[in-house]
Amino acid sequence: MNAIRPIRTPAELTDAGLVAPDHLAGIERVAERYAIAISPAMAALIDRADPNDPIARQFVPDAAELNVTSEERADPIGDLAHSPVEGIVHRYPDRVLLKAVHVCPVYCRFCFRREMVGPQGLGTLSPEAMDEAFAYIGDHPEIWEVILTGGDPLVLSPRRITEIMQRLAAIDHVKIVRFHTRVPVVEPERIDDALIAALKASGKTAYVALHANHPRELTPTARAACARLVDSGIVMISQSVLLKGVNDDPDTLAALMRAFVETRVKPYYLHHPDLAPGTSHFRLSIEEGRALVAGLRGRISGLCQPTYILDIPGGHGKAAIGPDAIRQENTGCYTVSDFKGVEHTYPPSE
Ligand code: SF4
Repeated sequence: MNAIRPIRTPAELTDAGLVAPDHLAGIERVAERYAIAISPAMAALIDRADPNDPIARQFVPDAAELNVTSEERADPIGDLAHSPVEGIVHRYPDRVLLKAVHVCPVYCRFCFRREMVGPQGLGTLSPEAMDEAFAYIGDHPEIWEVILTGGDPLVLSPRRITEIMQRLAAIDHVKIVRFHTRVPVVEPERIDDALIAALKASGKTAYVALHANHPRELTPTARAACARLVDSGIVMISQSVLLKGVNDDPDTLAALMRAFVETRVKPYYLHHPDLAPGTSHFRLSIEEGRALVAGLRGRISGLCQPTYILDIPGGHGKAAIGPDAIRQENTGCYTVSDFKGVEHTYPPSE
């Protein structure tokens, strides 16, 4: 099935063979609460014969999303607690998020900002709010990096991105501009010369953080889109979410990280899933996550290793929660495990 436009409604999901008619009522209730979009590239990638297809699991709504647990929260990583002006999140001293748009080309069922994105979400910043956001960045000389996120900033037209980049160009203390996006994978055709020129329009160092969670997302077309970005001088890094039923097994995780490196995308963050409403069916325990990440160590090159990250609920920032390779004993000596899990002794400092 090769759709030519995104699937956005329960009826379209049924027509596309992605939701059985007898499940439609539950999906309609999910659609009342959360946005739906599956891009043509992702719809084409779904194996309809596989009831556990990992691409479908990321994008096709599930009645399990109606189950909100007591620990889940609307703003799981505490964006609002650190938002001095609309569209800006200033959580760490040297960097801010600039959330210019709350629209995405796909809506991920596990999204940590699912209460903010989509047609009923926070929308696009008004010109006045944009002015305030740039004034805030300009007034804070400690801001070294601006991270465009949202929503997906690459849904903006090249003209709009160029305007943003030109405004950032005028702020001397901003040295790095980073875009967090799923576009090279889910709408690779958008990565054309005009968009690349826009991403580079500030003259600042540009990074693109690619969000992908399963190696099948790195199709030849997606890899070609990434190659266009990297060949233009943009540095690419990855971010993935560790998701039950999508990538929570060692083979899939290893293949995903290798696929990034083959595509010249340096593995960066592997996020533990956030406490977003209606997403408990995606969450595994931190111990399970640590065991999976420990298993990557001996299996794949150092180039392929991501940092396992937890965003501390409430807006307290990120913490690296990967397995420890070393511990100190009462004797002062250290016990360190090698990549096969065999333990060795390392002496204390003199
Ligand atoms: S692309 Fe990012 S912001 Fe958009 S729905 Fe997916 S996880 Fe959420």
